[in-house]
Amino acid sequence: MSTLGTERNPLRVAIVGSGPSGFYASESLLKSGYSVRVDMLERLPAPYGLVRNGVAPDHPKLKQAILVYEKIAEGPEFNFLGNVSIGRDLTIEELQRTHHAIIFACGAEADRKLGIPGEDLSGSHTATEFVGWYNGHPDYRDRTFNLSNEVAVIIGQGNVAADVCRLLGKTVDELKHTDIAEHALAALAESKIREIHVVGRRGPAQAKFTPAELRELGEMADCDPVVAPGDLDMNPESLSELVEKTNMINAKNIKIFQEFAQRAAPTKRRRCYFHFLKSPIELTGDGHLKRVIFEKNRLKGDPFQQVAEGTTERKELACGLLFRSIGYRGVPIPGAPFDERRGVFLNKGGRLIDKYNSIIPGLYAAGWIKRGPTGIIGTNRADSVATVKALLEDLGVLSGGEKPGAEGLYPYLAKRGIRVVSFSDWRAIDAAEVERGRPKGKPREKFTTVKGMLAVLNKRSETT
Ligand SMILES: Cc1cc2nc3c(=O)[nH]c(=O)nc-3n(C[C@H](O)[C@H](O)[C@H](O)COP(=O)(O)OP(=O)(O)OC[C@H]3O[C@@H](n4cnc5c(N)ncnc54)[C@H](O)[C@@H]3O)c2cc1C
Repeated sequence: MSTLGTERNPLRVAIVGSGPSGFYASESLLKSGYSVRVDMLERLPAPYGLVRNGVAPDHPKLKQAILVYEKIAEGPEFNFLGNVSIGRDLTIEELQRTHHAIIFACGAEADRKLGIPGEDLSGSHTATEFVGWYNGHPDYRDRTFNLSNEVAVIIGQGNVAADVCRLLGKTVDELKHTDIAEHALAALAESKIREIHVVGRRGPAQAKFTPAELRELGEMADCDPVVAPGDLDMNPESLSELVEKTNMINAKNIKIFQEFAQRAAPTKRRRCYFHFLKSPIELTGDGHLKRVIFEKNRLKGDPFQQVAEGTTERKELACGLLFRSIGYRGVPIPGAPFDERRGVFLNKGGRLIDKYNSIIPGLYAAGWIKRGPTGIIGTNRADSVATVKALLEDLGVLSGGEKPGAEGLYPYLAKRGIRVVSFSDWRAIDAAEVERGRPKGKPREKFTTVKGMLAVLNKRSETT
């Protein structure tokens, strides 16, 4: 009989990624009643994925999820290996040799494309770049955004678009006591943006904001929301969507849009215009974005199945800065089957499958890389619990001999010159960030380069 999952032969699981889904998977494994050791591998020295690098700086309460993750990380059966990228520093095969199972919880770090001419003009950016930049993500800290333009356009009407809109619309006073990266605060302080246009391809009843996030766009100190009353006229299908009990969110959004539309003429320095039933079909300019050409849409289909269909009616908007916020895709890792269409790892209920639909023993996925980029932080808990349940059901088919876990990986990493960041190393970086923020009245001043983070550790080892 297999001894896997007993104190003599603990189940060794490698978790790739330290965002919410990685931590919820760890929690579920460590509470399973089996003897389990979790090694979490994260490509950055800092853990927490999009809770650190995605959630907007002016939403600090949402970052409190980190307190739960810290508790999980403090457990003796949990081990963090930061600054280790799977696919670059270690292969999946190497992890398979050292661990009984691997859970990929590596998120969806790439963007969907609009697929229109001019998309790659300078001045046209993904929301990911801007979000990463203001949050101090090392991959994006060197991006530049031409904020000397007066007009910015955001394509998409979900909560990430709302985040981008707030960061463009808010004053420095509204942002300066958040954990926004200092380079972003300095650049936004010089911003000349006056108009922010937030554009959706479907109607107001289909906008994807959640009501709290939409309401906030009407509460900025120096930016008025603008909705043309006529834009809230809806077709019968949309009206019938709004009376469905399961569709409270959109009904609430409509009330908020109506309140915006009824406001007195805008007086604030900046304005945030909402546009519906418009799709960008071309971006033009001479190397740099100069204008967006939109096509007017109509809705077609039954309630809740309505899709946008172009009408051929066109409108242009002069603008020098555009953000595409239309969804995310996972990034492939060699050795993990990838669904190109959906941008996720091919899986059935969290078990990775090959292109013939056969389950690959010992490989699992959780969170955005499993189901795509939907849901809030908390949504990942149930998702990770389901993946761990599948893994534990498979104990009998996992290769059951003893495995070394991370101890078997450190020699490879040392040979490859990788400075592994442990959780106590991260604690030192964390403390240094908090210290740097204190004089500015900020919760932290993030290090925005890997080098900067590692320098804290080098300094520590020099003084001890
Ligand atoms: C801009 C933005 C704002 C958001 N704001 C909110 C909000 O306010 N409230 C809310 O509830 N939800 C919010 N969400 C949603 C929430 O962040 C996600 O539901 C959640 O982070 C998904 O968790 P995950 O663990 O699947 O992925 P992630 O959080 O993306 O974590 C993936 C981790 O894997 C690591 N990784 C990737 N590839 C590798 C590799 N090859 N090797 C090692 N590590 C790797 C990444 O560095 C990252 O740390 C937001 C999302 C975005 C994009």
